[in-house]
Amino acid sequence: MKILAVGRNYVAHIAELNNEKPDQPVIFSKPETAILRNNEPFYYPDFTQDIHHEVEILLKISKMGKNIEEKFAHKYYEEIGLGIDFTARDIQTQLKNKGLPWDLAKGFNGSAPISEFIPKEGYDMQNLNFSLDVNGERRQTGNTSLMLYSFDYLIAFISRYFTLKTGDIIYTGTPAGVGPVKIGDKLTGKIEEKMMFDFEVK
Ligand code: MG
Repeated sequence: MKILAVGRNYVAHIAELNNEKPDQPVIFSKPETAILRNNEPFYYPDFTQDIHHEVEILLKISKMGKNIEEKFAHKYYEEIGLGIDFTARDIQTQLKNKGLPWDLAKGFNGSAPISEFIPKEGYDMQNLNFSLDVNGERRQTGNTSLMLYSFDYLIAFISRYFTLKTGDIIYTGTPAGVGPVKIGDKLTGKIEEKMMFDFEVK
């Protein structure tokens, strides 16, 4: 399986990092080795001093497709989840300044904690609330109505370049409020009022 991720999909987050608003989705990938499941702890690596949390809604691809039309994209995922796109912001800033790829900043071991997936049925994909608390304090809140590019647009766009296969995961971008984590922090994420993950930084 593969993980594809979208950068700069929420305007308020673009502003907080002083990035330019993209004229098409910004896509990057993470390797399978980045995944943490079942609330496994995240071990803070020694090559960075500035890891940021980015809470994001995840889509789990349910059938193979390429060149998917936007109007059919909703048929290609049945379940959603919540994840963190851990980012070594210090490394990413250096790479961005040099115009280099982000892989080291975004794809390292443990950089993709993911929740269990839940059926999308009963939730409004265009108006979905999600949040992240660190040590019981609210750090990020998002609503999918504020995305620049909708889930269906992203699936259509991505599938022009990458054949999507069953089990692939798409990170759909983070809202404002990103910030550093430190050893000992406890991260809890919710979709609406449903607890999705609860894990520790070690
Ligand atoms: Mg992100």
